[in-house]
Amino acid sequence: MTMSAQQYVSSVLEKLIAKNPGELEFHQAAKEIMSSLELVIERHPEYIEANLLERFAEPERVVIFRVPWVDDMGRVQVNRGFRVQFNSAIGPYKGGLRFHPSVNLGIIKFLGFEQILKNSLTGLPIGGGKGGSDFDPKGKSDNEVMRFCQSFMTELYRHIGADIDVPAGDIGVGGREIGYLYGQYKRLTGQYTGVLTGKGLAYGGSLVRKEATGYGLIYFVDEMLRANGKGSFDGKKVVISGSGNVAIYAHEKATSMGAKVIAMSDSNGYIYDPNGVNLDTIKEIKEVNRQRISEYVKTHPHATYTEGCLGIWNIPCDIALPCATQNEIDATAAKTLVKNGCIAVGEGANMPSTIEATDIFLESGVLFGPGKAANAGGVATSALEMSQNSQRYMWTFEEVDAKLKNIMVNIFHAADEAAKEYNRPGNYVVGANIAGFQKVAEAMMQQGVV
Ligand code: NDP
Repeated sequence: MTMSAQQYVSSVLEKLIAKNPGELEFHQAAKEIMSSLELVIERHPEYIEANLLERFAEPERVVIFRVPWVDDMGRVQVNRGFRVQFNSAIGPYKGGLRFHPSVNLGIIKFLGFEQILKNSLTGLPIGGGKGGSDFDPKGKSDNEVMRFCQSFMTELYRHIGADIDVPAGDIGVGGREIGYLYGQYKRLTGQYTGVLTGKGLAYGGSLVRKEATGYGLIYFVDEMLRANGKGSFDGKKVVISGSGNVAIYAHEKATSMGAKVIAMSDSNGYIYDPNGVNLDTIKEIKEVNRQRISEYVKTHPHATYTEGCLGIWNIPCDIALPCATQNEIDATAAKTLVKNGCIAVGEGANMPSTIEATDIFLESGVLFGPGKAANAGGVATSALEMSQNSQRYMWTFEEVDAKLKNIMVNIFHAADEAAKEYNRPGNYVVGANIAGFQKVAEAMMQQGVV
């Protein structure tokens, strides 16, 4: 007897959970993605024959390695490194490295799994991967960060390459870390290639890469607002969680479009500034001095600082942009946002809303841009950096920005059209999952059982 799409998807999920015990974030991402893909399987029973979903949910390769290094006190420290090369059906693996004490295999696999669909949505030829370490750069000296990065790359270099796997930044990995990683890669291999993205402008980086995820998020949400007759960013009150790379450049672009950003946070707490959060001060605190966001109220005494980051979602706003980390909006926070009149949520972070929170937004008619679509501008611009490296050429800021904007507008419409085609109009979660999956599925089918 042939299986129904629903039976097939349930059996794949059951096996995935049994085979990967304790990987809660990976289970969560898989549930969200698979429930959308059931609709595709209904139309493509041949995918069941080919057991496509079970292959899709199994990484092609996982590398876990020891990262020993010596701290400034002369003590030997050991961290764990990861690289998950999830899917190369449409291009070399591509995805960031995260350095944060919470990093474990389940988190890297959830990020890698999402990355496959995100990369496909960009329309560019890049497969999905992700990596990182439980190393915490916070409070470490530059020398310690350098020694850690050199040790990390001493293992990683044998698994990556400009046409194999091209890592980039993520939480805890910015320009400084990419520089140290790149220097060590070059020293070990003697090769000057585009093996990492997010590089400095002096050595092969792309203009707009630093700004790309934040700017791209705003381009996506702006298009979503316009397409739904909800105006634009102009005149909207915006709350942004986080104050890292994504959050800062989301603020910059939203503000340039006429919005007022009234709150931002870090992992300790949040600031509320009814006059509009001053971005120069935030850049000084976070990018230059690597301090806590609580410093803000010292120079802006009319603003308030509150310990604990979850309370930020109690602040009434028109648009919420979670740009810190996974599961930072739960059902309670989602209900509060809806009650306070929030009309749109754009996920700058990866999976910042729990499944329950996402359902609440969708049921309440809040426009909801899921991370894999809304934050794809970073990886898209990384792919543009790869193109420039291959050409030994550099485009202008305006050229890259125009390409980024075009890609984000296209991603919105791809998700919108797929949602309509599968009778879920306005559901960009389903739309993004399906639009991203289609190309990967076709490529996997054409490449045989690999
Ligand atoms: P950064 O390290 O630059 O900034 C992260 C921000 O989030 C910081 O303000 C940090 O606070 C806060 N944060 C991190 N972890 C937690 C936590 N567990 N609880 C509360 N706050 C936390 O990272 P990015 O801006 O690069 O990344 C932010 C999100 O965007 C992540 O989900 C990432 O996967 C996603 N993303 C990033 C892309 C990129 O190009 N960089 C591309 C696509 C998605 P603190 O300073 O206290 O640590």
